[in-house]
Amino acid sequence: MMHKKTVAEISRSLQAREFSSVEITRHLLSRIDSLDKNLNSFITVTADFALAAAAAADKRIASGDAGPLTGVPIAHKDIFCTDGVRTSCGSRMLDNFVSPYDATVVARLKDAGMVMLGKTNMDEFAMGSSNETSFYGPVHNPWDLNTVPGGSSGGSAAAVAARLAPVATGTDTGGSIRQPAALAGITGVKPTYGRVSRYGMIAFASSLDQAGTLTQNAEDAALVLEAMSGFDKHDSTSSPAAVPSYHGSLNESLEGLRVGVPQEFLDEGLDPQNRAAVEAALEVYRSLGATIHPVSMPSLALSVPTYYVVAPAEASSNLSRFDGVRFGYRCENPVDLVDMYKRSRGEGFGEEVKRRIMTGTYVLSAGYYDAYYLQAQKVRQLIAEDFTRVFKEVDVLMGPTTPEPAFELGAKTADPITMYLNDIYTIGVNLAGLPGVSIPCGFVNDLPVGLQLIGSHFSEAKLLNVAHRYQQETDWHQRLPGSDYE
Ligand code: GLN
Repeated sequence: MMHKKTVAEISRSLQAREFSSVEITRHLLSRIDSLDKNLNSFITVTADFALAAAAAADKRIASGDAGPLTGVPIAHKDIFCTDGVRTSCGSRMLDNFVSPYDATVVARLKDAGMVMLGKTNMDEFAMGSSNETSFYGPVHNPWDLNTVPGGSSGGSAAAVAARLAPVATGTDTGGSIRQPAALAGITGVKPTYGRVSRYGMIAFASSLDQAGTLTQNAEDAALVLEAMSGFDKHDSTSSPAAVPSYHGSLNESLEGLRVGVPQEFLDEGLDPQNRAAVEAALEVYRSLGATIHPVSMPSLALSVPTYYVVAPAEASSNLSRFDGVRFGYRCENPVDLVDMYKRSRGEGFGEEVKRRIMTGTYVLSAGYYDAYYLQAQKVRQLIAEDFTRVFKEVDVLMGPTTPEPAFELGAKTADPITMYLNDIYTIGVNLAGLPGVSIPCGFVNDLPVGLQLIGSHFSEAKLLNVAHRYQQETDWHQRLPGSDYE
């Protein structure tokens, strides 16, 4: 069936005229129509836009003017601005916001001929680890509808896992691509900070935010990431470094690859079965010629508290633009300007967003700035140095992506700290600006779990090859979440 095909397979089928872009687009739209009622993975489905883009892609293919991604459907996380389409960021605040321009990521993939199916559900302003903070309601994990798909890119992860889209974009500030990829049994890639433009991506914590991909496998991630990446004059933090051919560097031998395993990742917080799955994956790498080296990174223990000072601080500043004046939600009948600010923000933002704004404002305020924000920046530097040190000894780091598989909806919403601890293995990577990948490596209680691969700055080509070689030896990434999705 068309929907089971990967991006690379769809690309080949389109070139071979086995089916047209309009045909696969129609097929996926009808799957979304019938299956997404249970999942809630889309906030907006852009059927008319999609069919028009697919027809245009078919013309390009017929005229011989097509690239590898032309005509291939994609879903975008609703954090990316999309010209003429509502861009809500999962918030009541932007429920009525129709963006007047495309984010660079969206524009580049559009230029490559990709067909946007719609905008995926997400935690409000990307704050969350379970997709339960969305104004549009939670997303359900296709592997078990009573469990969460992870967050904040939970809609993107569920849509790809259920084969409603072959690829979706996501963003990762503290784990929001890798963690949902792990819980939904798919491949998630968070590139190096600066590899992909942040222009038109609604800001959460600007020094940590980075866009990436959610796909069935590493080969597809390589194809799509290549088209998304590269310098953008609209984002001063985007890197001028040339984008290598990620797809061209797959299939390289892993003979002699030095794999470091941070012992701090295998602590008592890790579910023992999850740990067993990670250890089995390390054995696969050993059989491919890699050597495994335990390493110690003591500062990693500080990454969650550091992140939960830095990220809210930046968020409190970024979210000040939502004031009811220029765009987004405005309260009814304000009595004066202050009343309008207060009620527009009070009514427009959800609880978790308000919690972050308050924490962020507090840690930045005079008298507390030195004690919290400045201190957190220093610890952030120590964490980055820990990574720099180990990357002198090993080529990649491996460990779990999350402490446990998908948990039940509602299980952690009452206790924010428990929720924050989900990101314990992913956050350090963002604080250090490094690339990280999550690939499926087994099941715990019939729910998927992920193996995390971490590389040095701009080592995406290597990481994708390391992920791809594993996927040639295993079939975890090909499993489907039950007969409904066959
Ligand atoms: N779960 C983390 C948070 O709530 C990370 C979110 C993200 O990466 N966008 O902030």
